Amino acid sequence: MKSVSLHTLGCKLNYSETSTIGKSFSEKGFTLREYGEPADIFVLNTCSVTENADRECRQIVRSVLRKNPDTYVIVTGCYAQLQPDEIAGIDGVDLVLGINEKLHLMDYIDNFEKRDLSCIYRESHEKATDFFEAYSADTDSRTRAFLKIQDGCNYKCSFCTIPLARGTSRSLSPEKILVNAQKIIDAGYREIVLTGVNTGDYSFENYRLIDILKLTDGLDIDRIRLSSIEPNLITDEIISFAKDSEKFCSHFHIPLQSGDNEILRSMRRRYNREQYRDTILKLKENIKDICIGADVIVGYPGETDGNFQNTLEFINDLPLNYLHVFSYSERRNTDAVNLPGKVSIRDRKLRSGILRRLSDSKRFEFYSGYIGKRLSVLPESCKDGFTEGLTSNYIRVKFSGESLTENRLVNVKLTRTDGVKPVFAELPD
Ligand code: SF4
Repeated sequence: MKSVSLHTLGCKLNYSETSTIGKSFSEKGFTLREYGEPADIFVLNTCSVTENADRECRQIVRSVLRKNPDTYVIVTGCYAQLQPDEIAGIDGVDLVLGINEKLHLMDYIDNFEKRDLSCIYRESHEKATDFFEAYSADTDSRTRAFLKIQDGCNYKCSFCTIPLARGTSRSLSPEKILVNAQKIIDAGYREIVLTGVNTGDYSFENYRLIDILKLTDGLDIDRIRLSSIEPNLITDEIISFAKDSEKFCSHFHIPLQSGDNEILRSMRRRYNREQYRDTILKLKENIKDICIGADVIVGYPGETDGNFQNTLEFINDLPLNYLHVFSYSERRNTDAVNLPGKVSIRDRKLRSGILRRLSDSKRFEFYSGYIGKRLSVLPESCKDGFTEGLTSNYIRVKFSGESLTENRLVNVKLTRTDGVKPVFAELPD
């Protein structure tokens, strides 16, 4: 029987889809191998967030073929959708599948014989209207699973290629969400992370995101978490639900991208800094122990020192608890790439360093507030006599002992933090 290994680049959505592709291989009798182990077939699910995608893709394909030159190589995902010819030109790639084709991957493979030329199957993103149901439920820890509820995006942020790669917004029916959630629960997972490209835009018949949150709140599981949500889509109803729910994690990840109104307008984001601030303050005021993270892009075209300073001060004054900082990366076929005012790579690096340090100090401040307090942790991994896991409010915690096998929430007391590494904790006596 043939063996297959899979690897994912990019977001949680991609991870959940790779996991589902892996399941379809094992259902057909293939043996799943760890990434890095020799296998007959290799599937790479790519991302297109930065221009490094092609370099990374090339390196990975090369290293897989170095170990086993006869491996049949399949590349799919956002980069494959956007630049299929570029990928087909990489030595050793056999099959390139676009976003719609990824869904039916098994239909495109025959005898896995390597040929001189690679094949491309890729429809326009406008035809990406099907929903690829996916959830990741095959990691070792069996505690936290990612469930895809929505795909694609109707927004037109000037810097983003996702709508070109994944098509317009579409959502999975509530019935199917519950069926997939039940499969995850039956597999023993204790936390479900609801994921999508733009989860707040969930729409299926009369159902909106708030309805899905209420439905999943009734499931027999310890925790439900939302991967991220656009600030303009956080309604009062969502806040009030999060405040009252015992299952819904007190953690929101809310992309900001810039704290300067001129830049936000140019990015075509659907809020200004005042609206963003109001939402953050409302969440902090209502939800006990909430942790709020944000994505920020630095070096967007036209971002002057003054614009950046506005972002820095805005974030500094806001009760955000951590940042994911991205240096702006030019992406083909986006509007931002043609804008004047290119920011030098040096300034992009400098600005991202400043925001990363701000993020570290905010995280340290947040973690420090819990030292000496008790929080419940869902163990995810055990190594070298320590267990690691997350609290509901997204604090990564490490404590001595191997509690993973019990697959349940563990109550610990937080003892020590440097704000960067997992917070040390101890089990109660
Ligand atoms: S909301 Fe904007 S940044 Fe996010 S996926 Fe949609 S277009 Fe891209």
